[in-house]
Amino acid sequence: MSQQKWSEVDAYYTDLLLRPNPVLDEVARACNAAGLPPIAVSEAQGKFLYLLASIQGAGKILEIGTLGGYSTIWLARALGEGGRLISLEYEERHAAVARDNIKLAGLDKIAEVRVGKALDRLPEIEANEEGPFDLIFIDADKPNNPNYLTWAMKLTKPGSVIVSDNVVRNGNILDEQSLDKNIQGLRRFNEMVADDSRVTSTVIQTVGEKGYDGFMLTRVIS
Ligand code: SAM
Repeated sequence: MSQQKWSEVDAYYTDLLLRPNPVLDEVARACNAAGLPPIAVSEAQGKFLYLLASIQGAGKILEIGTLGGYSTIWLARALGEGGRLISLEYEERHAAVARDNIKLAGLDKIAEVRVGKALDRLPEIEANEEGPFDLIFIDADKPNNPNYLTWAMKLTKPGSVIVSDNVVRNGNILDEQSLDKNIQGLRRFNEMVADDSRVTSTVIQTVGEKGYDGFMLTRVIS
């Protein structure tokens, strides 16, 4: 199987199952035009996140890693009445594009982008008692995933869902000796999840227009 085939199948299902989405198309164009790296979730993956948050009946969502707000908008669209989303982003330039996109999507009253290193912004979320979150999407710097898991456990409650993207990385996750800090961070994160009796998890490997990767889905059970 080739990347071309994966992309064609993604396009087939996206055309078939996703309704025309002019605002999100415009958001993707704005991210490209601003020169943001093409590392947002795909349209199909965005819909997957939207469905997860909807099934969860999420009222509060925390995202770590905003980029141009593409996944933020998918997630925020799943929020019910009175829902709220906080997204943390290190790069001011990315956050500025995301804020414009969130406004374009008409979600600026419920979705907020906060700038800074996530590890610097998470303590205030705890201090201000802005959680617990029904869903946390971890999609930023992978070396910090172990720290993000620790924070996610503080900011969730039994029944909450934690989604982590890019946990397969073209299969490189198997390399125990990897010198890649992303792999090292993810492997440590995986071990922490595996050892934590408060959660239950699985990983679904994905192929598609974003190549070969995967999501970890975790439910907080106690
Ligand atoms: N979730 C986005 C989407 O699918 O549309 C993609 C996020 S992109 C994969 C990762 C983002 O995390 C980048 O915009 C990057 O600047 C941001 N990031 C990297 N390190 C960070 C940190 N320490 N704190 C917060 N954000 C960080």
